[in-house]
Formats: sequence, structure tokens, C-alpha cells
Amino acid sequence: MTQINISHAKKVFDDVTVIPDLNITINEGELFTLLGPSGCGKTTLLRMIAGFNSIEGGDFYFDADRINDKDPSKRNIGMVFQNYAIFPHLTVRENVEFGLKQRKLDKKVVRETAEKYLKLIQMEKYMDRKPERLSGGQQQRVALARALAINPAVLLMDEPLSNLDAKLRVDMRKAIREIQREVGITTVYVTHDQEEAMAISDQIAVMKDGIVQQVGSPKALYHRPANEFVASFIGRTNIVMAELKHSNEGVAELHLQNGHVVVYPKLNHLSDQTVRVSIRPEDFIRVEQEASLNTFVGKIEDSVYLGLNTEYVVALSDGHLVQVTEESSFEEDLTVGEQIALTINTDKINVYCAEGLTNLS
Ligand code: ATP
Repeated sequence: MTQINISHAKKVFDDVTVIPDLNITINEGELFTLLGPSGCGKTTLLRMIAGFNSIEGGDFYFDADRINDKDPSKRNIGMVFQNYAIFPHLTVRENVEFGLKQRKLDKKVVRETAEKYLKLIQMEKYMDRKPERLSGGQQQRVALARALAINPAVLLMDEPLSNLDAKLRVDMRKAIREIQREVGITTVYVTHDQEEAMAISDQIAVMKDGIVQQVGSPKALYHRPANEFVASFIGRTNIVMAELKHSNEGVAELHLQNGHVVVYPKLNHLSDQTVRVSIRPEDFIRVEQEASLNTFVGKIEDSVYLGLNTEYVVALSDGHLVQVTEESSFEEDLTVGEQIALTINTDKINVYCAEGLTNLS
């Protein structure tokens, strides 16, 4: 198993710096995802690792091996692309055998290795078929088997599920995860789909404008986003302006823009300042209006029923719109126009500085 170490990576295209100074460590056997909006440099970085893009600065290591100047064919990588890129004129078996034959391995080894990987991707039944008679998901499995058959040190996957329909994407990400775990190969996975990244990854690097915003497990990114960009990019959130103030006893309070006050001792140590509070839709709690003095009062503007949950858009008394998610029930659902009262689960919120760049909580 291989560890990948990238330090001070720099990429410039025609005088435009798309990656200024990037540092990442990808541990052995990990499925590590590069996630970010279109144009943030995910594919560019993957291609630098593969050797298809030049490197303008920094060091790329596979274990102790500096690969910066190595030819792509010498880097011992397997690649899977969005558009499958399997050979149409070869059968499934011949596709998987292709890289092995190129390495001039013994015929028996070639056959047995191909069969092992065809079994792994559950495609033994189809091994004599040509790709044109396979579904998109099956073709992508073949591409994965072909990439793995050569026993690469590192597997690189660039949006491998983007051409598949929604249901198949979900099935395939499970299959990829299982196969990757079974083989135990260090994998770098590129996607712009945050749900896919959450479902498949050990670690995720969230990127924006060629800069890594945060590296963390799916859970860490969701619950403890390092900045407002990550909080908004991973899942959905409401950003509410607030003043951090202290009571006479020195207890920190968040005075939200609509007048709601939240006691928040976690920030006792900080001085008074303007902050931005990130509240996930599910972290609003609906309460009886009379039950608490300190509630948000709002009116339901819109609702979307999603089976397990219902998503509401709620107009607070100051006119501010927030997204609120509630478990739905058959008997009782809220209707548009209805008044509701909400409090916040303060254990779950994140508080950012006025620029949204650092997590204070
Ligand atoms: P997407 O999700 O849309 O594939 P991405 O995050 O993979 O986006 P990249 O394809 O890595 O983004 O592109 C990063 C930036 O580099 C973009 O601004 C893009 O226009 C630029 N870029 C990529 N390849 C080249 C190239 N060969 N020449 C010039 N600019 C390029």
C-alpha cells in the first residue's frame, strides 16, 4: 500500500495560477476524495498525480519515491475516467487482460488475473461480450477491473459515475467502495457531488479556487466545517448574522439578527464581535409557542415533502428566510401560511468570524 504526499504543489496554465500552494497527505489504503465546485482544480491535481499535467512547483511523493519527473507509464497508477474509456473492439475479458498482456506476463497469469478481477466486479458471466452490449454501469465496472488488474500502487478516479443515472450511481458507489476496501488500494477520487463524496470517502479535501479549504472525514466536514464555504458546500445550512456579547456574569451570548438570544458559553473566552452563525435545517427545533419566551416565530412560506423528511421555508418575524427540515408524518404536517415557533439546537451550530473564514466554536 502506498502513501501519497503532496507538498507545495503549484499549477500554472498560460500565466494563470490555478493551484497556488497545495499540501495533502493521502494515507495508505484510503479512499480520498477531491471535492469542490466546477473549475476548482480537482481534475488538474489528479492529472498532476497521474503525470498528464506538468508540475510548476512542489513535491509529489508515492511513499519515498519522488514522482515529479517520472513518465506517467512509470508511476504505476490505474485510472478510471468518466467516459469509461474501455476498448470497444475488445471483449470484456480482453479489456481486463489488456494491461497484463502489455506487461508481457505469462499467458496463464494473464488469464487467471483477469478472471480474478472479473469475479471481483461480478462480470464473469459477461466476459465474452463486447462493451456495446453492456450497460453504462457494467462498462464502468470493466474499466475498474482493467485499472486494478495491473496491480497499481495508486488508483485514480475522475468523476467515474457522472455518466450514470441516479439509481445506478448509488449502486455503483457502493460497489466501488466495497471493491476498493477489498483490494485495499490507495485511491484518489474526484467528484463535484457532495453526497457521493460523503457516501464513498474515508477523507475528503474540499477545494475552492485551487485552495484546500478543509481535509476531514465526511462526519467532521458535516458537523465541524472549518469555514462558511465548507458549511454551505457540504449539505445545506442557514447563515444568520449575530453579535457575540457577554452577560454581566461573563457568559457569551449570541444576539441573532431577529432579536433572538442564544446563550453560548463555548465562546466565553472571545471578545465581543460580529459573527456568522451556521444552523443546519434539521437543527431548528419546533416548540409550542407558549412554551418558551425565547423562540423564533415564523410563518411557513413553502414546503417540500421528501418522504422521510419535509423541508420548509420559514419566514421569520424579521423577514429573514430560513430552511427548516422536520421528520414528516402522515397525520401531522405543517401547511403553508401556518405560524410556527422554533428554537435552535445550540450543540449543533457552528459560529464563524464576520468574514466566515474561521470557525470560532
Ligand atoms: P470540473 O468539476 O468542472 O471538472 P475541476 O475542479 O476539475 O472542474 P479543472 O478542470 O481542474 O477543474 O480546472 C481548473 C482550472 O484550470 C479551470 O479554471 C480551468 O479552466 C483551468 N484549466 C484546466 N485545464 C486547462 C488547460 N489545459 N489549459 C488552460 N486552463 C486549464
